[in-house]
Amino acid sequence: MWKDDYLFDLIKKEKRRQTDGVELIASENFASEQVMKAMGSVLTNKYAEGFPGRRYYGGCEVVDEVETEAINRAKLLFGAQYACVQPHSGSQANAAVYLALLKPGDKIMGFDLSHGGHLTHGSPVSFSGKLYQAAFYGVEKETGLIDYENVRKRVLEEKPKLLICGASAYSRDINYAKFREIADEAGAFLLADISHPSGLIAKGVLNDPLPHCHFVTTTTHKTLRGPRGGLILMGNDFENPFGLKTPKGEIRMMSSLIDAAVFPGVQGGPLEHIIAAKAVAFGEALTDNFMAYILQVQKNARAMAGALLDMNYQIISGGTDNHLMLIDLRNKNITGKAAETALGKAGITVNKNMVPFDDKSPFVTSGIRIGTPAITTRGLDEKDCIQLAYWINEAIIHHDKDNQLAKIQKEVKKFMKQFPLFHWHKI
Ligand code: PLP
Repeated sequence: MWKDDYLFDLIKKEKRRQTDGVELIASENFASEQVMKAMGSVLTNKYAEGFPGRRYYGGCEVVDEVETEAINRAKLLFGAQYACVQPHSGSQANAAVYLALLKPGDKIMGFDLSHGGHLTHGSPVSFSGKLYQAAFYGVEKETGLIDYENVRKRVLEEKPKLLICGASAYSRDINYAKFREIADEAGAFLLADISHPSGLIAKGVLNDPLPHCHFVTTTTHKTLRGPRGGLILMGNDFENPFGLKTPKGEIRMMSSLIDAAVFPGVQGGPLEHIIAAKAVAFGEALTDNFMAYILQVQKNARAMAGALLDMNYQIISGGTDNHLMLIDLRNKNITGKAAETALGKAGITVNKNMVPFDDKSPFVTSGIRIGTPAITTRGLDEKDCIQLAYWINEAIIHHDKDNQLAKIQKEVKKFMKQFPLFHWHKI
């Protein structure tokens, strides 16, 4: 039998990279053994277009149970009335909500990409900015914070059909009740994209968008620590505003329009192995252990931000409420790109990131984003984060000295040996 040594050697190489280094990319995490087992299971072989109890293929009895369990656990975890676990990614979850609600050319309004928003919230390079007219709000220059009165003014000027809150690089909590007031005043639907802080929201350590927002989308692989994927939730289902009826003449609920926008709207067959892994992750997230994990994620982010502030790093908004921080490096005379490269050589993975009112391109940027979900899964605590902040500073100071960076990398590798990863993993 042909053995794919080439590919499996690459996987081993990546496993070594993940094990030896410090993972500070805010959107990454390490899924558990049982989440990985579900992803690598026989469920990958099954076609199941449709939804539990209404499929276009035979043999779906078992995957119906799998998907129903995933839906029930997602509803329980977030206190939602409706959950769709089929979106293959966060982007597809957003695409489905837009497809269910909007016509091409309708206006959407989201958080500016350079202020920490996401591509799918209206960027011209994304379907969201190509199919829909996009407008943006952002943070204040002086504070780095969302000013809700200014958002209100912008939204009333623009009158979008869909207002989007939530971001990829905003370190503060969001006032969803205020966003709903603004959306109602403008006659807009409100979507909260909680892809980043969903683990913290699920455990109640940040504000809950479900009572306030018409729709909530999230990825399942960031602070939720599940497989790569997406999820759509509604706190309360409601009658669709377009008067669309079922064949029996009843008004269709919004949930049925969202289901239809996922399949056949933007996707084909669901990935039942990933849905099973989502169910496992939701089950894990319902435990007290996950609560302890999430609290530690937050404590670690605060400790890291505190240590960096002490070394005169400029954190946008002056700190963090969640799992991440955005650092403006302009006072350190280094670009985000150069910092990312230097830190990479030191064994510390971060991503360059635009900062609000950035004067550099997205390929260069003035900042980096740092997050603590992955290192917390490995077991690092606040004192370890202070040590990491010291190495980050050393690497930035010596960014053009490869021998110094190699020295830090050795120390980092030795340090990370204390936090074993993948001891259960066979490949
Ligand atoms: N929405 C937000 C706020 C995100 O941060 C991300 C991912 O970074 C996404 C959507 C898209 O998720 P995916 O990469 O799974 O498409």
